[in-house]
Amino acid sequence: MPTPPTPLLYESHMHTPLCRHARGTPSDYAAVALQRNLAGIIVTCHNPMPNGYSASARMLESQWPDYLALVAASAAQFAGRLDIRLGLECDYAPGFEAFLEHQISSNPLHHVLGSVHPQVGEYRQKYFNGDPIAYQRTYFDHLAMAAETQLFDTLSHPDLVKNISPKDWQLPRVMDDIRRALDRIAKASTAMELNTSGLNKEIPEMNPGPEILREIAQRKIPMVLGADAHDPIRVADKFEEALTLLESTGHTHIHFHLNRHRHPVPIPTARASLTPLP
Ligand SMILES: [Zn+2]
Ligand SMILES: [Zn+2]
Repeated sequence: MPTPPTPLLYESHMHTPLCRHARGTPSDYAAVALQRNLAGIIVTCHNPMPNGYSASARMLESQWPDYLALVAASAAQFAGRLDIRLGLECDYAPGFEAFLEHQISSNPLHHVLGSVHPQVGEYRQKYFNGDPIAYQRTYFDHLAMAAETQLFDTLSHPDLVKNISPKDWQLPRVMDDIRRALDRIAKASTAMELNTSGLNKEIPEMNPGPEILREIAQRKIPMVLGADAHDPIRVADKFEEALTLLESTGHTHIHFHLNRHRHPVPIPTARASLTPLP
């Protein structure tokens, strides 16, 4: 058998059962990452939020020590074989800045995702006024605000709102708003994620889609790759397809974060480092 190339890439977005809608331990995800010839995984489960916000989709604040222990146990188990790091996917909405600042700065996180989740009931209740286009505009404004907080390394799945009301997703109607948001995100030097899980949603394309990816490339905003696995089998899912999409929309590099420091990898090098699942 030919020797696989040196592992290089990290899976930068994945979950644990603590969020109540994912299955498998970080070790189960790590086993798939090894098969894919990744260098490591960054566990980024949904963060605890205050006052019961979206409580059904995340760990409780009291479970935080369990999260640290879960990631540490897998990291020890895979030491010398796969690098397992602690990260977090944080919900962002205006008003949560102080809470998040404290949560993020008090923990040794390697990669912090900032997510606007327009499907969350509490968010929808506050910001949906019955007009789906206005909701899309609010979403992109909040995404830019998230970047401007400087709290996050990467903005997750940054066109997630398109699946809230797929029939109302017509890019030309909101493209100027998206461009303005991307200008602000570029100025904030925050990375954005290409999230491959979008292929399994009602609008079957990655988040974001190709038109937005082109606008991102024009602004030289760094891209991070994530499968957003809620099941071990999806670790690094469709990464090859994602790299091809990035190249075809004008991107030259993919990035990951360790110790909250950004590492660029040329796309051809990234592609060559991956092994398909048997
Ligand atoms: Zn989730
Ligand atoms: Zn998310």
